[in-house]
Amino acid sequence: MRHAILADIHGNLVAFEAVLQHIKRQGGVDELWCLGDIVGYGPQPRECIQLLREYDHISIAGNHDLAAIDKIDISDFNPNAAAACLWTADQLDAESVTYLDNLPMTLRRSDFTLVHGSPRQPVWEYLLSESSARCSLAHFQTKFCLVGHSHIPLCFVCFADGSCSLRELRPELGLAADDYRLIINPGSVGQPRDGDPRASYVVHDAETGVLYHYRVPYDIATVQQRMVENGLPLHLALRLIYGQ
Ligand code: ZN
Repeated sequence: MRHAILADIHGNLVAFEAVLQHIKRQGGVDELWCLGDIVGYGPQPRECIQLLREYDHISIAGNHDLAAIDKIDISDFNPNAAAACLWTADQLDAESVTYLDNLPMTLRRSDFTLVHGSPRQPVWEYLLSESSARCSLAHFQTKFCLVGHSHIPLCFVCFADGSCSLRELRPELGLAADDYRLIINPGSVGQPRDGDPRASYVVHDAETGVLYHYRVPYDIATVQQRMVENGLPLHLALRLIYGQ
């Protein structure tokens, strides 16, 4: 079995399609695992939900998914995110709203726990430091935990003594060792923030026990044009080029 692990698509259909094409060129996967924030920021939220639903997949809810259907307050969003959220809410049809409304906050699949932010606070916490990784360990039971939300591909290796060490997410990561647990962020499909504007995602091969991290270029200018045409905040369009 092979699974593609995708996070933070954020209404960026062009990036999502580029990733799906890339997956196809690698021989395809059995299932997509989506870590939330399917919508928000980008210009094609409804289309991203529709496309995801064409595939065998599982997904959890991200903060932008919940905000777009008014399940959480946007008062904690910055002004650009809040403006994009209100615009996104207007684009969703009843079917998309029902789909987002039914997404769980966490999911478990074999050795993996899937959350958007962190296992401690699935919706809001940014898991970026070794101390927050350490605190997270008590909040999931599986060997591996998959997180999104920060839009930064990374990996925490956590040892039996409770210590965790932040590592770069390399192109290939073996999962076979018995003596540690891992927290893995595949990076963002639709709005990377690690300085690399290419879409970021991971494929898990259950047979070989290897995670493959990929970066995929896509037509950023087309997405920016669609954002401007729809009156989305200019800053959100500009940041795509810098991957910030
Ligand atoms: Zn996000």
